[in-house]
Amino acid sequence: MEIRIGNGFDIHKLLPGLPLKLCGVNIPSERGCVAHSDGDVAIHALCDALLGALALGDIGKHFPDTSDEYKGIDSRILLKSVLEMITERGWRIGNIDITLMLQKPKVAPYILEMRKMLASVLDLDLERVSVKATTTEKLGSIGREEGIATFATILLFN
Ligand code: MG
Repeated sequence: MEIRIGNGFDIHKLLPGLPLKLCGVNIPSERGCVAHSDGDVAIHALCDALLGALALGDIGKHFPDTSDEYKGIDSRILLKSVLEMITERGWRIGNIDITLMLQKPKVAPYILEMRKMLASVLDLDLERVSVKATTTEKLGSIGREEGIATFATILLFN
């Protein structure tokens, strides 16, 4: 058996009046992510981690934000497409671990729903899918609620 590790990072700007979607789950919020797609910063970081594990480039290479095809697209569709690239090469996901960095809103009540959503999209057992969240103690741009960042780490095996 061979294993591969991948990491991904993404950050999106927040503006009032936009919807907020994280890990495919709609989160009630006064602010949402500015984006060409649906702005799901968590799924974008996850896609980059999956692509990175197999040195397949990044999400911008496969789904350019200059293309009308991806305007407003549900990021779960992008994730499914990345998953296909992984599985058609004979790899499977061992586990995923995501850390959301945001000051507001409190996402603790939605963590389980986010894990279930990703487990369902990726066809994984729930215990292989971790989603965590932290604030930045009001420090920096994230602390000023100007944006949301996400780190994702994944392990692949074949
Ligand atoms: Mg992004």
